[in-house]
Amino acid sequence: MDCSEVRKIIPEYVNHTITEDRTTEVEEHLCICNDCRQFLNNFIDNPSKSPTSKPTSCSEPASKKVFSFFDYIILAIGLGVFLFFIYLILRK
Ligand SMILES: [Zn+2]
Repeated sequence: MDCSEVRKIIPEYVNHTITEDRTTEVEEHLCICNDCRQFLNNFIDNPSKSPTSKPTSCSEPASKKVFSFFDYIILAIGLGVFLFFIYLILRK
């Protein structure tokens, strides 16, 4: 789903008049698209305003690196091994 499609159905998305599948698609797009998120915020703030005013493209979706749960596990194991070696060195 691209930006123009998302923005076309945002009024219905806000009013919960679209199917669950469409809602999921919109939400997935909102996750990666700052522009459409901003658009949705503006729409919620001004529901009477026409939602077709500012069509900007999503050529560069925000790709933010987020640490996952497993990254933290690996980090913790690495830290544990590191502290274990420190312990071995200090024990001598
Ligand atoms: Zn978008």
